[in-house]
Order: sequence, then C-alpha cells, then structure tokens
Amino acid sequence: MADKGTLYIVSAPSGAGKTSLVAALVDKLARLRPSVSHTTRPIRPGEQDGVNYHFTDRDAFVRQVEQGRFLEHAEVFGNLYGTSADWVKQTLNGGEDVVLEIDWQGATQIRKQLPDAVSIFILPPSLEVLAERLRGRETDDEAVIQRRLDGAQEEMSHYGEFDFLIVNDDFNRALYELEAIVEARRLDTSRQSVRLEPVLENLLASRR
Ligand code: 5GP
Repeated sequence: MADKGTLYIVSAPSGAGKTSLVAALVDKLARLRPSVSHTTRPIRPGEQDGVNYHFTDRDAFVRQVEQGRFLEHAEVFGNLYGTSADWVKQTLNGGEDVVLEIDWQGATQIRKQLPDAVSIFILPPSLEVLAERLRGRETDDEAVIQRRLDGAQEEMSHYGEFDFLIVNDDFNRALYELEAIVEARRLDTSRQSVRLEPVLENLLASRR
C-alpha cells in the first residue's frame, strides 16, 4: 500500500493568527506543503502572486469552477477563493502532507469528499484581542475591518464542526499544539505499519 499524505484544514476568523501559525508550522515540519489558493481579491501590499495566492479575475475563476479545477471554492467577504484539486491530489499521492488555510464553507466541502482530512480551528483568546489585531493590521480600511469583525463571529460559530480547537493566545504554545496534531497523526498505526514494514518484519521474525 502506498504511503499517502494527510490533508489538514486550518480555519479561523481573520485576525486569529492563522497565516503566521501555518507558515511557522510549514517551516518547522518536513513533508508538509501549504496549498496556494486562487482568489479574486485584490493583492495586498507585501503579497506576491503565486506565493500568498494565485490572484485572478472573476471570469477566469468562474471558468476554472466550470472546468472542475477546484476541490472546494467559496465566496468570502465578496471575493472568490478556491483550492486547486490537481495540486492537492498530486501532492498527497506523492506521500506529502498538505495544509489548506480555508474558511468553514470550504472545510465542509472538503470533509464530504475526503473524510480522512483533519480539521483544526484556531480561536483568538477574546473578541477584544481580535478587534485589536484587526486594527493593528492596517492593510484594509475601517469599513473592511468592521465587516471582518462581524464575519469573525459568523466564522467562529462553526467551531464545533472541526476535529481540533486551538486558542492562539501564546504563539509558541499554539504552534506546539499544531505540531502535536500533525505528529500524532503521522504516528497512527495504519500509517506507521506501512512505513515500518521492514522494522516490523525484523522484530517479529523470531516468531516464525
Ligand atoms: P484573506 O483574503 O484575508 O487572505 O482570506 C479571507 C478568508 O478566505 C480567510 O478566512 C481564508 O481562510 C479564506 N480562504 C483563503 N483561501 C481560501 C480557499 O482556497 N478556499 C476557501 N474556502 N477559503 C479560503
């Protein structure tokens, strides 16, 4: 049996620190690749096309939806976002784990297609801290920030649909908890018995 990768879904309201946590996780762990989503939202200062997102226009996005190119897609704050089906499947089939940073609607679609996916929800420690973090970002105007704060509560109301919950109060603690989820999954018996086949054969040889 081939050793296939695991798909991780990480969701959070904007401002919970999800992007920084996932970037640190990917830096720290081998064999874990982040999926670069497609989006119609305008590029923000400091972002790079093909790195943070594949930035595209609405027509091109809708064409890709019609061609079945997305594993999931959703509209978030008036912009379209989608995950490339080919890239995710190829990477998992190649034995590497993949992490998706997507919203709760995308998470629902993925769970239906890939029930083995592991989903993690990241919460901010309080609504006050979340509001502060969104204001501190200064990449969007105040109206956008207010909309995101309203949307955050809608996003957080879906926490119960996820396998794991992490509170990002202390960054290093939250990163450690994320790592622990991935490492534990990598050690489960169905995966380890494939990886450890020669070791297990050796260990059990004397019983023959
Ligand atoms: P932002 O525009 O701030 O980077 O992301 C806004 C929201 O869109 C976040 O909740 C983020 O997780 C979500 N998002 C980003 N990429 C995707 C995607 O490919 N699919 C879905 N469903 N949501 C996404």
